[in-house]
Amino acid sequence: MAEKNCVFCRIVLGELKSEKVAESNSFIAIRDINPKVDGHTLVIPKKHFVTLLDIPNNLGREMLEFTKKVAWDLMNEKKGDGFNLAMNNLEVAGQEVMHAHIHILPRKEGDGVKVL
Ligand code: 5GP
Ligand code: ZN
Repeated sequence: MAEKNCVFCRIVLGELKSEKVAESNSFIAIRDINPKVDGHTLVIPKKHFVTLLDIPNNLGREMLEFTKKVAWDLMNEKKGDGFNLAMNNLEVAGQEVMHAHIHILPRKEGDGVKVL
């Protein structure tokens, strides 16, 4: 169910604008509003789950296939020559939006980004 005060639920519902770059049955991919690098993209389940641990296993295959498709698109669009995946789970790990999401960060030589 959608949470009415959740930014990503509101984006999924179309109540808030976003730059959507891909969609599958259960996921959307949008550009991050405050990108760390050009092409910084978020993979978001349409249903409200808080962390990876809440996402049901039966969405695992679709989540992987969809994330790979979005990463391929970024590589084909030359947004990066490689990429990082990152997921912050709960506040202590830096999660700010409490609706699960995977960051895809396209990387270029010398971009100065530090992920781990
Ligand atoms: P977290 O720290 O929770 O892993 O990251 C949340 C991410 O969501 C941040 O990178 C932030 O810039 C992004 N974000 C927060 N609010 C919005 C929004 O309304 N639209 C979009 N496109 N991204 C958002
Ligand atoms: Zn939500």
